[in-house]
Amino acid sequence: MHEIMAGRGPCLHHLFYQEKEMIKEFALNNLHILRRLTQLTFICLLLLAPSLDLLRYDVAANDLYIFGQVWELGLGSEFYADPTAFGSGYVAIRILLKAILPWVIVLSIFPLLGVLLGRTFCGWACPEGALFELADSITLKLLGRRSIFGAKPNDPPGAKGGKFKYIVLSGIYLFIVPPFFGVMIAGYFIAPARIWQEIITLDPSFGLKAGVIGVSSYMFLSFIFVRHTICKYFCAAGLMQMIFGWASPVAFGIRFEKASFSRCTDCRQCEQVCFMDVKPRGREDINCVNCGECLSVCTRELGADCGLFTYSARHRDGDGHGEKIAPDGCRPVAMK
Ligand code: SF4
Ligand code: SF4
Repeated sequence: MHEIMAGRGPCLHHLFYQEKEMIKEFALNNLHILRRLTQLTFICLLLLAPSLDLLRYDVAANDLYIFGQVWELGLGSEFYADPTAFGSGYVAIRILLKAILPWVIVLSIFPLLGVLLGRTFCGWACPEGALFELADSITLKLLGRRSIFGAKPNDPPGAKGGKFKYIVLSGIYLFIVPPFFGVMIAGYFIAPARIWQEIITLDPSFGLKAGVIGVSSYMFLSFIFVRHTICKYFCAAGLMQMIFGWASPVAFGIRFEKASFSRCTDCRQCEQVCFMDVKPRGREDINCVNCGECLSVCTRELGADCGLFTYSARHRDGDGHGEKIAPDGCRPVAMK
């Protein structure tokens, strides 16, 4: 420290830079694990939010719980009794602050995410997207392709050896996971304590039965037939991020270094890992969810600092792809 202060050692700015680079390198080397952890966290959040009173609407009591508190407008009958301009102004301000403003904030989350991060939420946090990826991966192990409808040019190699464990896994995934989610998601509308009481006494109410059957049927059918087609064409949150991300001049996301195409070994791993059927080496695609899987495999193929993908803010430079990101001296480590 004395040396730094005396100007003889490395300066603080240099140390911070080194630290930043180390964190960046660690994150890039462990992108896949970090993404799975983030997805798992959001799945837990989705399932536990009602039980923790983070978010739920109790239909029976007509109460909205947010972060452990009942959300009220705070307008008892006494407030409406004041006929003066002050009284009605007070009521108007309460409605604006407690009803309209929160909704504006909630509705602006996904457009804002789109402007800043493109579809990164879809690739890193969306519980449904994570479950679809798992469905893809089980199908790949069982059938040797991602979709039940037929092989695609970008399908990765399937699993070798026995399939029995994957048959068991797919049974659990189709017949146990959907009803479990159904029970947990019913908690957004029925008090969780009541749900467990109904389950223990084997006396489910109409609301619980409807919730479980509805959620289970949706999950069962979407796991088998639809999967990421929902993300591409039907999910409102995904579409908002897609449109605002596409229009944003600064959206952060995955970029391909076209200027160094000559380093590409044409291994096609970046295409094979892309569950959104994007061609990562082509033009920017509005379906890219910035998952970073193409970045990870390309870095493994070409070596550290030599991969052809990076995360960066968008540069409007013609085709939307970024500037050079790796030194010219990089050469493929495994020419095919
Ligand atoms: S192009 Fe890359 S970052 Fe985008 S979805 Fe495909 S694998 Fe993920
Ligand atoms: S993973 Fe990298 S080296 Fe392989 S095809 Fe894709 S861009 Fe080229």
